[in-house]
Amino acid sequence: MQKTRLRKYAHLLAVSGLNIQKGQEVVIRADLDQPEFVKTVVEECYKAGAGKVIVDWGYSPLTKLHVRYQKLKTLEKIEEWELARLEHRATALPCMLYLTSEDPDGLAGIDQKKLLRMMRARSKATKPYRSRMENRYQWCIAGVPGKDWAKKVFPNDRVNVAMEKLWEAILTTARVTDDPVKAWEEHNADLAARCKYLTDLHLSKLVYKSKNGTDFCVGLIPGARFCAGKEDTIEGLSFNPNIPSEEVFTSPMSGVAEGVVHSSLPLSHNGQLVDHFWLKFEGGKVVDCGAETGEQVLRDILAMDEGAAKLGECALVPFTSPIRNSGVLFYNTLYDENAACHLALGRGFPEVLPGFETRSEEDTHKMGINDSLVHVDFMIGNEDLDITGITEDGKEIPIFRKGEWAF
Ligand code: ZN
Repeated sequence: MQKTRLRKYAHLLAVSGLNIQKGQEVVIRADLDQPEFVKTVVEECYKAGAGKVIVDWGYSPLTKLHVRYQKLKTLEKIEEWELARLEHRATALPCMLYLTSEDPDGLAGIDQKKLLRMMRARSKATKPYRSRMENRYQWCIAGVPGKDWAKKVFPNDRVNVAMEKLWEAILTTARVTDDPVKAWEEHNADLAARCKYLTDLHLSKLVYKSKNGTDFCVGLIPGARFCAGKEDTIEGLSFNPNIPSEEVFTSPMSGVAEGVVHSSLPLSHNGQLVDHFWLKFEGGKVVDCGAETGEQVLRDILAMDEGAAKLGECALVPFTSPIRNSGVLFYNTLYDENAACHLALGRGFPEVLPGFETRSEEDTHKMGINDSLVHVDFMIGNEDLDITGITEDGKEIPIFRKGEWAF
């Protein structure tokens, strides 16, 4: 890939993704796949004003070994030095950049229950630190190609051709054009206008209909916002948490959903594929499901915990989004969730509630934000999906017609 284009991408991540402030610390999490590119990003972070940039290198095959060989008790334990590092993060509030390049099948064959219990224990121990940091620092997730990932996406190409194709798909969908920073300013403005319009409608329900059999209605939380694109920290610093991002989303009212939804794209979950599936909701909960491929995987997701069979997200994405237009199935949620309208099982987003900063987590759950350890997106948007919003006073407003925005 052309060096100048990669530098533009690195600049975009530092400036639009993280919005690094003068003297601010930056932590980059990256796998070993793209050391040259990570070096470019580090340089762009310094040029953007970073006072100190730290790179946390990872290598996912090691994670697999640790989970296989360590006792659960060891996996669950957080060492003092790990807590000290978290304490530093909670105090210094560095920007966090996550560069994802992992093999979509990297966690295949791993003991999923052990993995989940490790995640649960660690999540509990790190919670107080994460709560202190929440909405107080800028962060961004973006992709870089890894060899296994590229081969998964382009199985018929030689590795270096596949890598080049994946770079192309990543840079195109990230809007790395002549002036990516400007492209993102315009994109963010368009998304913000759509969010405002949708939030101001005061919708109480969304009704989905498609020829593929989707006939579904989901309740929304009174006063909840639609969000998209950039976010703001409590101090008012804007950043783009996902690059790319095409979705306009909200968290629905947990426990209010009826009807059937059919998938429109495969769901890749920890190296396992679920395809051509449907879910039936009653009283907000999945009561039945079926899949041509991977039905057991789907059933296991639904049984993860109490909230896993309920919805945490409704996201609107036009059928002609750049991700869908690329024609690539990325096997990575950062990309694939931006290819089509989707729903997510599991955890919802408290930040869609007005004044969420001052509410306790329990409070947000009482208001209707779904609680779960998992958050699994699945695509339901296609070329004939109609979505109609029902306002609090019963008016019907077209939101999507034939897979595209109706406004
Ligand atoms: Zn989403």
